[in-house]
Amino acid sequence: MKTSMKSLVISSFFIISLFVSSSCQKDDMNAENVRYASVLSVSEDGTTSVIEANLKSALIETSDLTESELASLLKMKVEEKFARDVYAVLAQKWGSQIFSNIAKAENNHLNAIILLLTKYGSTEPSMDEAGIFADATIQKLYNDLVAKASISIEEAYKTGALIEEMDIKDLTVALSGTTNENIALVFENLLKGSRNHLRAFNLKLINLGLTYIPIFISQDEYTQIATSAMEKGKQYRMNDQGNGQGNGKGKAGKGRGSKGNGTCNI
Ligand code: ZN
Ligand code: ZN
Repeated sequence: MKTSMKSLVISSFFIISLFVSSSCQKDDMNAENVRYASVLSVSEDGTTSVIEANLKSALIETSDLTESELASLLKMKVEEKFARDVYAVLAQKWGSQIFSNIAKAENNHLNAIILLLTKYGSTEPSMDEAGIFADATIQKLYNDLVAKASISIEEAYKTGALIEEMDIKDLTVALSGTTNENIALVFENLLKGSRNHLRAFNLKLINLGLTYIPIFISQDEYTQIATSAMEKGKQYRMNDQGNGQGNGKGKAGKGRGSKGNGTCNI
């Protein structure tokens, strides 16, 4: 009696833990062509872009943005434009492939933020032209960095690393200040992009025998990023079929119901 009770308890526990640990698999049983996919595309050189169709498909319905969420989206929009504009100048100046690849990626990051702003009905006026910024402090930083990065290719790569670590710091702060799941999704992926771009510039500096000293993030965080592999995006539930790109293997699942971006860490 005692033994059978014990084995009943054990087997119940086993069944419960099976359900808990395999929620994704369990959901598969109810699947109807639901797909999980990454919203990031990562090239061999570390250039990281958002797959717009998959991003659109991963977004969910949320309440309206708070004032501070809107402000942080607008701030990051300027930062992505800033990165794009600096790298575009450096691509021209140095004819370096990494700058033209990453400049395109920054334009894509900018579009991901504009997509979110549009979804929430932001009536923010259209963007300033390349190299022009409404904020005088940002304009001065742009002018200074472009001048410095035009001195040598070493300075150009250092400037790339500086812009990426600045983005990492600001995206981390922005992420901690939002509960909006769509903003979190976009910022988390842009953060992965910035870490990959930082790895790419760090590699260029190492190849020139240079060691970069971070300014915006700690040395520990920098070392951790620089010594780890390029990051791929995690899998999100696609609310329609997306465009079939990305790292997704088409993991089926029942999905999340009304809450959450429906990630499935596999
Ligand atoms: Zn970016
Ligand atoms: Zn970047």
